[in-house]
Amino acid sequence: MLETLHRIVQEVNAAADLPHALNIIVNRVAEATGADVASVYLRTPEDGTLALMATVGLKESAVGRVRLKPDEGLVGLVAERAEPMNLENADRHPRFRYFPETGEERFHSFLGVPIIHYRNLLGVLVVQQQTHRRFEEDDVAFLVTMGAQLAGVIAHAQASGDIERLHRRASRASRPLRGVPGARGVAIGTARVVYAPTELNAVPDRKAENPHFEEEVFLAAVQAVREEIKELADRLDGALPAAEQAVFEAYQRILDSNSLIQDTLERIRAGSWAAGAVRETINAHVRTFDEMEDAYLRERAADIRDIGRRILMRMQLVGSDTREVPEHAILVGQEVNASQLAEIPQERLAGVVSARGSRNSHVAILARALGIPAVMGVTELDPARLDGRELITDGYIGRVYVEPARTVRREYKRLMREEAELSEGLKQLQPLPAETTDGYRVGLYANTGLISDVGSSIESGCDGVGLHRTEFPFMIREHFPGELEQARLYREVIAAFAPRPVTLRTLDIGGDKALPYFPIKEDNPFLGWRGIRMTLDHPEIFLTQLRAMLRADIGFGNLRVMFPMVSRLEEVDEALKLLKRAQQELEEDGLEINAPKVGVMIEVPAAVYQVDSLAKRLDFLSIGSNDLAQYLLAVDRNNPRVASLYDELHPAVLRAVNAIAKAGLRHRKPVSVCGSMAGDPGTALLLMAMGIHGLSMSSANLLRVKWVIRSFSSTEAQSLLQQALAMEYPDDVRELIAHALEQAGLGSLIRAGK
Ligand code: PEP
Ligand code: MG
Repeated sequence: MLETLHRIVQEVNAAADLPHALNIIVNRVAEATGADVASVYLRTPEDGTLALMATVGLKESAVGRVRLKPDEGLVGLVAERAEPMNLENADRHPRFRYFPETGEERFHSFLGVPIIHYRNLLGVLVVQQQTHRRFEEDDVAFLVTMGAQLAGVIAHAQASGDIERLHRRASRASRPLRGVPGARGVAIGTARVVYAPTELNAVPDRKAENPHFEEEVFLAAVQAVREEIKELADRLDGALPAAEQAVFEAYQRILDSNSLIQDTLERIRAGSWAAGAVRETINAHVRTFDEMEDAYLRERAADIRDIGRRILMRMQLVGSDTREVPEHAILVGQEVNASQLAEIPQERLAGVVSARGSRNSHVAILARALGIPAVMGVTELDPARLDGRELITDGYIGRVYVEPARTVRREYKRLMREEAELSEGLKQLQPLPAETTDGYRVGLYANTGLISDVGSSIESGCDGVGLHRTEFPFMIREHFPGELEQARLYREVIAAFAPRPVTLRTLDIGGDKALPYFPIKEDNPFLGWRGIRMTLDHPEIFLTQLRAMLRADIGFGNLRVMFPMVSRLEEVDEALKLLKRAQQELEEDGLEINAPKVGVMIEVPAAVYQVDSLAKRLDFLSIGSNDLAQYLLAVDRNNPRVASLYDELHPAVLRAVNAIAKAGLRHRKPVSVCGSMAGDPGTALLLMAMGIHGLSMSSANLLRVKWVIRSFSSTEAQSLLQQALAMEYPDDVRELIAHALEQAGLGSLIRAGK
């Protein structure tokens, strides 16, 4: 069964479009189960009706014409219950509904399974039999698995618009792709697809601007791979048995094969760019091998894929992608990362859309810092088909429109205008303090990490920098930056804000922040070698950074140093010792060093329960709510499957933050929040009421938060906090906040437009 399933999946994935894929499925499912009928019904997004989209066994003419309301027929019942139904006498079931156009009165047995993608019902897969037959357990399991596989294909088809076309363009309004909000705001622009050099299937479709150049790039890459394989074979000659050496010969044969070269050249001549042509040729060859019965030959598909990847890598080195970045570029990819974002000229970058990741992924944090909208976790995204197409990204609700209808575009243009007006209006708050109507004041700080953040943060009128993420310069270089280079970067920030405090956080790599030149491979990177754990194991890297920070502060005195990912007191003791040592070393060189204030991030549950000991040892505490929520709730902050479980208003998170704030008050040590929570206007109000001294956020949010703080009294905020802390469900807290903001006339802070 597994073998059959594997083969069907290969075939379906290779199908040219959705109608072909559906036809393959119904045919193969009928064959595999021995059923007389196999059909796929798809749910129409507009009204939820289930339309027959492909069948074998029912009348062909019924396709597209038979439509069941959600509460109609056995198919409707499967959809309603979202579970398989296996009936021997389907025609006697009270929900049986007869459609004359299908001719299905002859079929007695019925097995239907729902097609579900991330809790979303997309359709129903059905097999039927003339004779009275109860389908076997195996058939049910097979169909359920098939339904799950099909769900991915359908979701992709929805993304590329195939489904709409299939539903006969019933509605002119375009259906958006759903993701989660990554960074607020709305953008209209052109998709610019990015992909990792080894991701063959992520290579986007693109037209060749200069086919002759593309041919040359391709042929040069093939030649380079030939040489690379020969080199490999020579190097291992003698070390490997003859049979294994033969693998390299097989590689050379594939590379020399006329069809690989010719097929690709033909695709280029037909208008494709080289990388897209390679993807198509390789996939076609892979399909042929995958379909072979012989297990040995099937394995050759893996060799072909490997060759494809090697050619692709080579082509990237030659630089086949010479096009200019579009003016309003929306960066699109399976998993957009910080360095890809940094490569796009900032003045051209309008938005980010990523199939993986969530609001707390670092690329979303970067997008917020740059003030551009981001939609994350768009699982149904098919980047390969989006390059160069017009997109609208709605970072408020996490939606992406592909080639939107005119009405949709007009509406979003209006929202963008209103957004700009709101931001303009908020500028008048810039010189005013973040003070409640009854005079309670809270510090508003900026999160920075790119030099370009500095300008916008200063403009926002912040009280200083609450979190400077130092890892970004490390991420976009090819080696660890040296002490003087780091010192120069830190000094720019320290000088720009002096005398306002600037909190530099020591290197926090690991988790989802990798350095290309310092790979860390772990099964559970978020529970692994991250932040302070890694830097304490590499005192040479840590000391260099600490010295650079102290050096940068010479003559200013507004530096604060902060350690990330602390879970044990020993880590703090050791880090403090190293900081002292760095200071002594610089002093021995005759430099006059200021002793900075030192703090830690509270972002691991272990730190919450040691908050008193930490407060005693340090000058300040800062809550990293992004990680704290991730670790408290056991929800990977990058995993779109569980993105809906990630909730900063979860009672566990609110209560933990409240407890830290109270500990700070007890020990008279300032506590700030520097995770995304602090930049959410409604949540910021609750944090202030808890007694948090400083809120540190992307400067794009700063005036919005100030507006809220200036619109409430501390008594009102206290009352909201008490109600929120007593609530058991995050949605109730959300509603409480939303209601309070609407009542105060600040509704535009929680949605797009005025
Ligand atoms: C956090 O975890 O809340 C935080 C501010 O740090 P980062 O997002 O860089 O992990
Ligand atoms: Mg963190």
